[in-house]
Amino acid sequence: MKWHGTPATGDVVRVSRRSPQSWAVDRSLKIARSLLFSASLTVTALASERAIVSVKCPLDGTEFEAVQDFSGYAEGQRLDLKKLGPISQPPALARCPQCSFPIFSKYLDAPLATRIRAILAGERFRTEAVPAKPWFALGILREELGADPFEIGWTYLNATWEAEDEGGRYAPAAERALAWFERAAEARRDDPERRRDCHVALYLAVELSRRLGRFDEARQKLTRLDGVVDEELRWLASAKAAQARLIAARKSAPDDGREDLPPPPR
Ligand SMILES: [Zn+2]
Repeated sequence: MKWHGTPATGDVVRVSRRSPQSWAVDRSLKIARSLLFSASLTVTALASERAIVSVKCPLDGTEFEAVQDFSGYAEGQRLDLKKLGPISQPPALARCPQCSFPIFSKYLDAPLATRIRAILAGERFRTEAVPAKPWFALGILREELGADPFEIGWTYLNATWEAEDEGGRYAPAAERALAWFERAAEARRDDPERRRDCHVALYLAVELSRRLGRFDEARQKLTRLDGVVDEELRWLASAKAAQARLIAARKSAPDDGREDLPPPPR
């Protein structure tokens, strides 16, 4: 999966079209849409819609009910790129109650299914991922699969949002997101095709360092973005300025995203 960056502040974004989590979400959206349409429910535009749908684990065929998102719109975003507005962040991620597979796709070819089964049966997954929440478990699974570093970083970023309601779990997810975004930035530094991902990874390393209270590290990382102008990351300039202010004030709390909220969608 190739991701072309986060939506710019000011855009109204359908999560199913632009979200970096779209691989996982698109599948669930299709499931939910088909169920909802068959039930003759009305899809309301510009609202976050969730539904309980029937899901079948592609590994062992277990059928269960799970919450799924089928629409959402971003009206703005926080400094950690969490979208704000009528949108689920992170998107709901169904997880098989039988094998604990966080179902990022219901379409797995045989070789991939075999690899995932082996990972799920392994010691690390059973001890670290099974007790964890779905996005964190998916991060571990993607690490074990040797997925793209940016994709792993983004998965753990979702895990930080998943952990927000349980203060103590934010830091482990943030630490992993930070480490993987650092690897992603390094891996993509000289790749013109992935430069935007490199910029996003460098930026998120600043935010995650700040949120972890490492202000000196955050300040140093922010200098790596000196002179970086990316026309497709329209939020970057204001986000860099906000980071400089927050780091100077030694504030590690999440922002409320209000500074740069765009006009409401039409
Ligand atoms: Zn299963």
